[in-house]
Amino acid sequence: MPIEEVKGVGPKTAAALRKVNLCTVGDLIYCLPRLYENYQTTTTIEDLHPGKVVVRGKISDLHVIRTSRKRLTITQGVIRDETGAIRTLWFNQPYRAKQFDENREYYFTGKYELKGGRYQLTSPSATLVQDVETDATASFQPIYSAKSAIKPQTFHKLLEGLKPKFSEIPDLLPFTDGCSDFVTPGARAEALFNSHFPEQPEDAERARKYLAYEELFELILAAKLNKQENQRLRSIPLQFDANFTKSIVRNLPFHLTGAQRRATWEILQDMGRSTPMNRLLQGDVGSGKTIVAALAATEATKNGHQTALLAPTAILATQHFESLGKLFSGLRTHLVKIPRIALLTGATRGKWQLKKAIQSGEIDFVVGTHALLTDDTNFHSLAFCIIDEQHRFGVGQRHKLLLKSPDNTAPHLLSMTATPIPRSLQLTLFGDLDVSLLNELPPGRQPIETKILSETNQHDDLYPKMRELLAKGQQIYWICQVIEEKNSNTATPVKKQAKKLTELFPNYQVGLLHGKMKPDEKDAIMADFANNKIQILVSTTVVEVGVNVPNANMIVIQDAENYGLAQLHQLRGRVGRGDQPASCFLLTTGEGKPSRRLREMEKSTDGFHLAEVDLKIRGPGEIYGSQQHGELNLQVANLTDTELISQASNHAGEFATHPEELQNYPELAQRIRKYQQLTTLN
Ligand code: ADP
Ligand code: MG
Repeated sequence: MPIEEVKGVGPKTAAALRKVNLCTVGDLIYCLPRLYENYQTTTTIEDLHPGKVVVRGKISDLHVIRTSRKRLTITQGVIRDETGAIRTLWFNQPYRAKQFDENREYYFTGKYELKGGRYQLTSPSATLVQDVETDATASFQPIYSAKSAIKPQTFHKLLEGLKPKFSEIPDLLPFTDGCSDFVTPGARAEALFNSHFPEQPEDAERARKYLAYEELFELILAAKLNKQENQRLRSIPLQFDANFTKSIVRNLPFHLTGAQRRATWEILQDMGRSTPMNRLLQGDVGSGKTIVAALAATEATKNGHQTALLAPTAILATQHFESLGKLFSGLRTHLVKIPRIALLTGATRGKWQLKKAIQSGEIDFVVGTHALLTDDTNFHSLAFCIIDEQHRFGVGQRHKLLLKSPDNTAPHLLSMTATPIPRSLQLTLFGDLDVSLLNELPPGRQPIETKILSETNQHDDLYPKMRELLAKGQQIYWICQVIEEKNSNTATPVKKQAKKLTELFPNYQVGLLHGKMKPDEKDAIMADFANNKIQILVSTTVVEVGVNVPNANMIVIQDAENYGLAQLHQLRGRVGRGDQPASCFLLTTGEGKPSRRLREMEKSTDGFHLAEVDLKIRGPGEIYGSQQHGELNLQVANLTDTELISQASNHAGEFATHPEELQNYPELAQRIRKYQQLTTLN
């Protein structure tokens, strides 16, 4: 039912609701609370412990302090109850100073913590005690995410008006074999009701579990159905000639690791079939994914078909192009036919001619960036697609590439990622993929020593180490977060830092690299760094993915607190790619204790471990990039809840054995279609 038809919703409210994508009653009901405020569990001030607390008391001594630095205002006050008093403060919320009546009691909910040697309640939310007490159920209250245009009161009132309708909500999930105890008649209506109108914490928790189960079931079923659909497509079978591949492998400049052999074999098996491969090659930074993809590509060339490799940046595409070219020409005598390889990026000159050659089949292997995806890039016979750092691309972009194979066929797809995917995500988001794992690094790699360092100590603890390393003829990456100075951001800009390092290390060349430079400028700087014409490369995160300069053995990441764990791990993966010991310094500005992220980085170089930790700290959307999964917006499900995932997975698996049944569940079918588009890699 459209939102306009709800009692009490006028045109203005309706417009505001539609603006935040709440268009139907269903949307409103599925707009679930972010958390619950529990006013039953207040603590007296004398009993406070650090952490999240609810205090009941009066507030006084309110005043606003303006700091000159960082344009910050701080509103301070004192909260009192019968047992004592605490300091409280808010940042950049000057209105707080006028918000309170000093004679009335409020519940203050916030974080009680030690800052600058004093305990304080930081940025608490506040509710009048009286408001809570006039409503018996209000002592345990749902809190909804701030939907800018809609007042919480309006939202509560709308839901309150719908209250009698909740019992009419139909069931959603099928009651089949393998369905869990959660799925009982009426369970959905009850869960939705209890999540909005819980009387006690247990109600809310039970509701959350059911709704999480529902979400996981949908997600997993969507992935399973995608996989089935993929199996119905046709592809060009690329015959696997084991002797041919063996002779190439024997003549590589190094021995493949066991993991590389296994992965290559799995891929070549898949490509021999007439259903398209949809495989993810997962391996930590430096595990050697490129050579595995290259081996598969030689097979495609031998079969007379084309390969495309899509990379997220021009730097990376160029590097792939060069190293593949070198590899193939080194194998000259062993290849039946050397793949004729070409580079297509935004900066490529003579695009028109190149595209003609691709279309006529003169080129066997195209390496490129987004430039590959334009409508006027056509292939003669594209049978194999490789997408490097696949999480960098959106569903739409990948789809564009896949459409370039001959009519009525889908190419074999190999996606590569260095961001390890925790098992729970493999089952849910990536359930339609087959996975090959490179869980072994090439021999001789040394662990990267990682250290958190305060900026104030860089003179004594960092510069000497840099000098020592440079004296050995090795190179350094220095990573900054921003290009230029901005008011709101206090991070050190890359240009300023490059200047500083030029002065500090006058005997060495310092290079500057950032995303706003022209593609050929970037390529030139990167080439100079690769050839050791530049010894210190000061760069933004444009070097994050894939770049390979084995002589660079130190990376300094400035303002390290500003990066996510996955990104830090990627950046660190730029070093330690040769046989020399390597180090990574995480520079922080803050005094206090470094964040959990940084401490995890210091402790571990294992990408899989870090990905699990990251999933716990941040959730899946952020790890895998908003492009791909921003829309996914899992509301309830926690992807670290492996028990719930495995139950939902069994249930969905059972149901997927009779996919035609889905037509008896129109609402489920509709919801799943949304997920199918988001999770599919084809
Ligand atoms: P990533 O998995 O991060 O993409 P690359 O494919 O770029 O890693 O490989 C990293 C480096 O390791 C390259 O210089 C590559 O030539 C080298 N390499 C790959 N496999 C092996 C191996 N089995 N033995 C030694 N070096 C290898
Ligand atoms: Mg790579």
